[in-house]
Amino acid sequence: MKSAKPKEDLLKKLKERGIDFMENQDMSSYSSIKTGGKADLVLFPKNEAELGSIIKLTEGVISECFRYVVGGGTNTLFKEERICVPVISFKKFDSSVSDVSEEYENNDNDNDNKKCGEKVLRFGAGINLSKILNYSLRHNLSGCEFFYGIPGTLGGAVKMNAGSKESSVGNIVEAIDILDSNGSKHTVGKKDMNFSYRSLNINGIKDNYFIMAVYLRLKESPKTEIAENIKIFKERKSGQPLGEYSLGCIFKNPEGFSAGKIIEEIGFKGVSFGGASVSRKHANFIINKGGAKPSDIIFLIDNIREKALKSKGVKLDTEIKIV
Ligand SMILES: Cc1cc2nc3c(=O)[nH]c(=O)nc-3n(C[C@H](O)[C@H](O)[C@H](O)COP(=O)(O)OP(=O)(O)OC[C@H]3O[C@@H](n4cnc5c(N)ncnc54)[C@H](O)[C@@H]3O)c2cc1C
Repeated sequence: MKSAKPKEDLLKKLKERGIDFMENQDMSSYSSIKTGGKADLVLFPKNEAELGSIIKLTEGVISECFRYVVGGGTNTLFKEERICVPVISFKKFDSSVSDVSEEYENNDNDNDNKKCGEKVLRFGAGINLSKILNYSLRHNLSGCEFFYGIPGTLGGAVKMNAGSKESSVGNIVEAIDILDSNGSKHTVGKKDMNFSYRSLNINGIKDNYFIMAVYLRLKESPKTEIAENIKIFKERKSGQPLGEYSLGCIFKNPEGFSAGKIIEEIGFKGVSFGGASVSRKHANFIINKGGAKPSDIIFLIDNIREKALKSKGVKLDTEIKIV
């Protein structure tokens, strides 16, 4: 923050509006690898109105109007350096579900894909993928079985275009409701969303937008079929260190290669530095064995990258966000 005075004013206004916030937060609680530095201020909007207020209130208080958004923090590593810009956490954000099939299909004249036996559901961006999977199983809806074993919020999953070899979130998203960095609301349809490998760009919108709700198209299917599909992803996940503190895959797979295999071949499987270790189960995972500092993880990342380039001529890009 620029100075104490604007920060005091900001906190007073947040209190007046009933918006939850916490100061001096240890970011290890906001990341699934359970390490991180401190943040001056974390804000917890519960709905669109509170998020809109936060955007307006923090405008001008912060240099370049920057704010950082965190969903489940399952793909985010917070460095040791103190975070001085407000962090907006989606921990308490809307996680409601509603069936909007009828109104969605009636309003969407451009949609050529209207099909019988399909439903469009609107989810609050704060909902966890595991809850969506449970919901879809209960309601006999298929299409999101690949959510199995992917932690985090739907907002984070859409921003990351999370998924597997078979499918990714972008394939089932119909539209999203967002607030842009100035607090203006947009409903963005499929034709303006450019999903690529672990990323989403929206036509005409700067990258620091806030996803508030996501419309997913799912297909009515027999429960047994959905359960069978989930089983396939469950088996796949048995090769990952799911019980450990991690961030999922650290590196993106370079075109035509497996990052995990490259890391194994250059001899990093099981290598430790400080409290961090390259998983013996899956070499593209770094785990916190206890007491890992963010710099331990970054040290391993930098060394893997350097060696992969030197001995294999392959440039490894991180999938995780380092803040
Ligand atoms: C054990 C484990 C297994 C995993 N397996 C997979 C897998 O199989 N496939 C896969 O793709 N990923 C996997 N991941 C990575 C991670 O779970 C996904 O990327 C997940 O979708 C991230 O969601 P999140 O809410 O935790 O995002 P965060 O880590 O909180 O954020 C990720 C990015 O999204 C942005 N963001 C978050 N919420 C919003 C919002 N509402 N509006 C705008 N921007 C937002 C953040 O600013 C950040 O840039 C795994 C992770 C773990 C720990």
